Amino acid sequence: MPAISTGEMLRQAVDTGSEIGRRVGTTMRAGELVDDETMTDVVTHRLSEDDTKDGFLLDGYPRNLDQAETLEKILRELQADLNAVLVLEVPEGELVRRALARAREDDKADVIRERLGVYRKKTEPLIDYYRQRGILRAVDGFQAVEKVTSVLLSELSEMGQR
Ligand code: AMP
Repeated sequence: MPAISTGEMLRQAVDTGSEIGRRVGTTMRAGELVDDETMTDVVTHRLSEDDTKDGFLLDGYPRNLDQAETLEKILRELQADLNAVLVLEVPEGELVRRALARAREDDKADVIRERLGVYRKKTEPLIDYYRQRGILRAVDGFQAVEKVTSVLLSELSEMGQR
């Protein structure tokens, strides 16, 4: 099943200098969210491709409540269902440490701080949103990579059975 990372798609768009890439570069480097309209375009196009027919994993979308509502509309049109939402729980100090070690362009200390602020304000409310819908699963992300991977894989295979 394809793993679709909106951040990865946007970084590629920036690298290739596409029309979208030219529009979103500054926003991404500042650690802000790209506008919802652009994200709707990106996700709608990607999900309409053939390889998503038997399921897909979205990574980094939705990032706010409006995007969550848009996603419901997109899925309704595709006659697809959201089986589950995974939230990876990691202490903030560890997130900063990992991001600094990764050293992506948007992983400078002040941009990391900004991204965490945006997360708390705009993305964190989605946890309750999906918990209320009964599809939220929390995974402890503060463990060895192999351990997190195996827990995620077992969660995913359980979901596939529903
Ligand atoms: P990520 O790799 O998911 O952390 O995404 C990197 C950057 O891409 C984010 O800091 C945002 O600027 C942008 N981005 C990725 N996904 C979204 C989204 N769903 N909504 C708005 N901006 C996004």
